[in-house]
Amino acid sequence: MKQILLILIAIFFLLTIESNAQFNWPDGKKAAVVFTYDDALDGHLDVAVPQLDEFGLKGTFYCTGNSPSLYNRTDEWRKIARNGHELGNHTIFHPCDGTRGDWVKPEYNLKNYTLEQIVVELKAANTLLKAIDGKTERTFAYTCCDFVAGGTDFSGEVEKLFTGGRLIGPVPETMIGYNVYKTPSQGVDSPTVEELIASVDEALKKGTIVVFLFHSVGGGYLNVGAEEHRKLCEYVQKNEKDIYTGTFLEVMQYIKKTGK
Ligand SMILES: [Zn+2]
Repeated sequence: MKQILLILIAIFFLLTIESNAQFNWPDGKKAAVVFTYDDALDGHLDVAVPQLDEFGLKGTFYCTGNSPSLYNRTDEWRKIARNGHELGNHTIFHPCDGTRGDWVKPEYNLKNYTLEQIVVELKAANTLLKAIDGKTERTFAYTCCDFVAGGTDFSGEVEKLFTGGRLIGPVPETMIGYNVYKTPSQGVDSPTVEELIASVDEALKKGTIVVFLFHSVGGGYLNVGAEEHRKLCEYVQKNEKDIYTGTFLEVMQYIKKTGK
């Protein structure tokens, strides 16, 4: 019995090594780092984008259709898309599972949605974003990381509409079986520079990927301080020899092309 177990473990490790050998980041790089920002906030335009641009990095900005910033500063959002940042889909009304808190109004409770309703909302959000950036291909970030509407898992519909989907979770151990439609990301809330850099180092050590999930930048809810954000950008750029970066769309396209 023990022998069989040892053989099975050996086979597992051999398969792991074999599969890992099949996945390579471009240009001999060791890991990927992706910057994503949710809810289309003013701090993204005022703080995050100038810092990303300073270090030659690109971000993905998951825009909700009802974002006041998206309405008030549409031209600026259009401009950042033109400069290579991605405007991602984050629904129109930001529906979430009602158990997330009292702030989820009954009409925007995913439990009260139907499958048809969420799919139409995703398509309408794509139309809105296409009107801003002219693009027909983009990625999606699940609002509150919820993927069940009215009791039905709608992730299959997300696969039809988008190139990738973002959820939450730890830095993956391996790129084997990496699901671009349910990618883990690191949510932050007032992180230190050391914590942010530790996530990058973890991805480098594992040879995988870290996707940062930011909300407010430079002040607000689930915030990352301007200085912390800037230091992270600086660290990633300083290690560009080892780190592959791009928008969430670009990196998911690469994984889809290479990882299978
Ligand atoms: Zn959100």
